[in-house]
Amino acid sequence: MKRDRLYSPKVIKQVLDKFNFTFSKGLGQNFLIDGNVVRGISQSANITKEDNVLEIGPGFGTLTEELLLKAKKVVAIEIDQRLLRVLDYTLSDFDNLEVINQDVLKIDFDKLVEEKFGGEPFKVVANLPYYITTPIITTLIEKRLPVKSMTFMVQKEVADRMVADPGNKQYGSLTLFINFYATAKAVVKAPKSVFIPQPKVDSVVVQLDLKDDLPKVNQEILFKLIHGGFQQRRKNILNSLTSDKSLYLSKDEMGLILDNLGINKNSRAENLSLQDYINIANIIDV
Ligand code: SAM
Repeated sequence: MKRDRLYSPKVIKQVLDKFNFTFSKGLGQNFLIDGNVVRGISQSANITKEDNVLEIGPGFGTLTEELLLKAKKVVAIEIDQRLLRVLDYTLSDFDNLEVINQDVLKIDFDKLVEEKFGGEPFKVVANLPYYITTPIITTLIEKRLPVKSMTFMVQKEVADRMVADPGNKQYGSLTLFINFYATAKAVVKAPKSVFIPQPKVDSVVVQLDLKDDLPKVNQEILFKLIHGGFQQRRKNILNSLTSDKSLYLSKDEMGLILDNLGINKNSRAENLSLQDYINIANIIDV
């Protein structure tokens, strides 16, 4: 490579000047300028020459460059049309990159996997624009695509919710949703100072390894229970779990279920483990 790596603040500054680029706050444009974090992300994802990678939001290509060096192929989805010629310039050395100029929330993922990866499994890596963190993670998980793992930079507060333990203030429906489908670990800390422009909050890289076998349970009932529980998280579990009327469960019936499972009726939604919710759902679904 003829120049310094893209994470060098000097190179980023040159690119900014060359293209007269102005950051869009609305698109969550906070670009990485730290080699340790960039390498940390690709190491956590354990990217090798066997891997197809889907990157969301390549920006100037700082993380993409690292992925291209390590992976077989990278497909990067970028919404901001202004960045296409920037990426043409910054990543011109690579022939294993394909950039798609589209809103990732509108992508037909089944078609993309077929067309770009020949239906093969792939890893997802992204320094996510914050405004789409939850929708994109839920979409990718729920679609049950052949995703091997997901490695995402997210706001620290979101990472805390994803990896929280029962009883913790951050523990909630996002924690349980993620844990149902994946094993989640916080792997790299990224203070505000590793981005340009600096965001208001710190970030954390979360590694999600998707489970091959999901617990046997009626998912509709499970997530209704969880949703109801955390919508009224101050109430005791007997009241909050009977709040979703479409489950047709009286307090007496729920009380019996909780007694059967040895769950204290005065506990709150945040005190129950994923397995507790699964056990309750399985009793309801007989
Ligand atoms: N990966 C780069 C880095 O780490 O320096 C940029 C990360 S920046 C936090 C988020 C990127 O996602 C920006 O390039 C932004 O334009 C892009 N983006 C925002 N919304 C998007 C969307 N709906 N679909 C695809 N890309 C999007």
